[in-house]
Amino acid sequence: MPGLAIRARGVVQGVGFRPTIWHLAKTYQLTGSVWNDQEGVMIHAYGPASVLAEFAEAIPKHLPPLARLDALESAELLGSAPDEFLIVASAGGRAADTVIAADAATCPACLADIADPGNRRYRYPFTNCTHCGPRLSIVRRVPYDRRHTSMAGFAMCPECLSEYQDPADRRFHAQANCCPVCGPKLWLEDGKGLLPGDPIDQAAAAIRAGRIVAIKGLGGFHLACDAANAETVRRLRQRKRRYAKPFALMAGSETMLRRYAECSSLESAALQSPAAPIMLLTAAGAGLAPELAPGDDKLGFLLPYTPLHHLLMAALNTPIVLTSGNVSDEPQCIDNAAARAELADIADLWLMHDRDIVNRLDDSVARLVDGEIRLLRRARGYSPQALILPVGFEQADGVLAMGAELKNSFCLIRRGQAIVSQHIGDLENAAAQRDYRQTIDLYRQLHGCTPTRIAIDRHPGYLSSAHGRELAAALPAELKEVQHHHAHLAACLAEHAAPLAGPPVLAAIFDGLGLGDEGSLWGGEFFWGGYRTCRRLAHFEAIALPGGTQAIREPWRNAYAQLAHYFAWPDLIAEYGGLAIVQLLNRKPLATLDAMIAKGLNSPPASSCGRWFDAFAAALGLHAEFADYEGQAAIALETLAGPAFFGERAYPDAWTLAQTGESRVLSWRGLWLAVLTDLRDGTDLARVAARIHHTLIDAASAILSTLATTHPADTVVLSGGVFQNRLLLEGLSAKLRTAGFQVLAPRAYPANDGGLALGQAVIAAAAAR
Ligand SMILES: [Zn+2]
Ligand SMILES: [Zn+2]
Repeated sequence: MPGLAIRARGVVQGVGFRPTIWHLAKTYQLTGSVWNDQEGVMIHAYGPASVLAEFAEAIPKHLPPLARLDALESAELLGSAPDEFLIVASAGGRAADTVIAADAATCPACLADIADPGNRRYRYPFTNCTHCGPRLSIVRRVPYDRRHTSMAGFAMCPECLSEYQDPADRRFHAQANCCPVCGPKLWLEDGKGLLPGDPIDQAAAAIRAGRIVAIKGLGGFHLACDAANAETVRRLRQRKRRYAKPFALMAGSETMLRRYAECSSLESAALQSPAAPIMLLTAAGAGLAPELAPGDDKLGFLLPYTPLHHLLMAALNTPIVLTSGNVSDEPQCIDNAAARAELADIADLWLMHDRDIVNRLDDSVARLVDGEIRLLRRARGYSPQALILPVGFEQADGVLAMGAELKNSFCLIRRGQAIVSQHIGDLENAAAQRDYRQTIDLYRQLHGCTPTRIAIDRHPGYLSSAHGRELAAALPAELKEVQHHHAHLAACLAEHAAPLAGPPVLAAIFDGLGLGDEGSLWGGEFFWGGYRTCRRLAHFEAIALPGGTQAIREPWRNAYAQLAHYFAWPDLIAEYGGLAIVQLLNRKPLATLDAMIAKGLNSPPASSCGRWFDAFAAALGLHAEFADYEGQAAIALETLAGPAFFGERAYPDAWTLAQTGESRVLSWRGLWLAVLTDLRDGTDLARVAARIHHTLIDAASAILSTLATTHPADTVVLSGGVFQNRLLLEGLSAKLRTAGFQVLAPRAYPANDGGLALGQAVIAAAAAR
């Protein structure tokens, strides 16, 4: 009897791959065996040659939902055929690198189970199977067996065990398999003790009554309340001390969601996917509290992704706020005791359970921009999925990249694949920093990786860089410093599979701030390069940030620094003294600021596009005094410009590009004049905001085309946090495509600093050979 040995690589362990193969082999009446090993899954199949070929072709078409097949290789097999087809025990010591899948939203089959009064899992909030449920959030170490997860303390009852052992069952080797008899329990408590009754019904009733309920989710605690109840939403903002940042919302169904937001087919597919991210959607319709997303025309919606959410939302007629369970900027709580203590002044009730969350996983956030779903925060549902690196990186190994300071994530490279951690958060926060160290240790253990090379940002003040230096000394490993914006460029190349030896590309990297050459701060840069080299060809004119980091919180400081840079203040008063922004600035201690800027006291020059947006937003009266979070003013400017965008165009003669030394400098004096004049003339602010966007788009496009005449490239990379702006990314991409460029922008990894570690890692790997 002919035989075929088939090797499957990719995410093929812990996702129901072997039972799928077992079913398929039975269908084709083949005999043989299937097992997990260090490289993935191995299949030995015996039968008529033509049937074997059909079987091999059928495999990619019958993948279980959470599997990802990276390669399928076949070879002839010699030997005698067995009598039946069996799933056999795993071979070899270490499990494969791809063994941990991402946490996945409840699958349709499990949803049917909990909705069926005759099913033993009817209304059971921890129902899961090999196609769905917790993964990374409950894992303590590899191999991914129940004993190494927070399900270890729950011994399976006979019925669950028989499912677990039956290859024909959807729960065959489902490590988190459980039921009401043997699994975790849910309860509702207030500050004093347990509350009687059905915990889900009681929690839903409390939400309807305007109370705030802390809910233990998959990757952390959330705070929930009725999103239609303005008074409760205000109270949640006060208690949480989160005054302006938008709240995420959960709708019970897409039908409910469509009452409040627009949702395209691509957005719908993302919402319904196993990753179930928060999608930023255009708000439409009335009925929700206005305090959900002040100054923003978007609402961040997600759909239920655990049985607990499904059961709760089934009892509610309006969406709920579902925001991270924390105070202000702390990481969200993951354990019960911490949630009781830290949320004591915020929550009225706690919906809790006794399955530990081992790894904190925030909800991922995505937005549809320029026809693609783009992640702005990559965590639950996506991490720790590996990225297969482009051609030329096959041998890359043993790299750890430490990431940035804010929106931190880190990255490991192992056997030609990059594994980017979930969003860790802002390392200035002590708890986030503790998580950071622990999660690095976990990922190293999961992937059996002892780094020989550690990549850090050049910024000496980043805690991630300091930790990288410590680690490099302790291991020991070679240390590689990577320039911030080069890392943004390289991350985008890597996720778009640009080969290591590919031709150079042009890039516009626009973000808040990153350390450039010779101690200068960059953020509005044009480059030419690739993984190995990166030349700065042009940049925004560097202008002082009076007060340093204070200038991020107080956009008026940027507005003043820009105006004072381009104009004499008395002239400005004479011409534009009536403008609100000029009057506001006149009330500020301008003499002190002048002295600081003149002496270079805590006023580093920066060529930042993020601060440029802040300055223009402030000039239009948007968050001039104070921004609650970085990017708030820029988001407000984008929101303001939106309705007027398509009717407007760029200001003429608004910028100049002058050669200074190695690089060309982009001056915005003309734009400031045009904006001040429009403001004086009482032009509608939405039109002014739209014209500012168009001017940046025209300038960037013209500059890239000019640079291409001396630095040839077919491809332009657009990255950095500023490119989360939809008008900018879509407008500039369209112009560049018309000019004949291929445009690459981040999708699977954030354009902001959340994607930085991937770029650091590939640059370090590229430098190693
Ligand atoms: Zn399921
Ligand atoms: Zn059970």
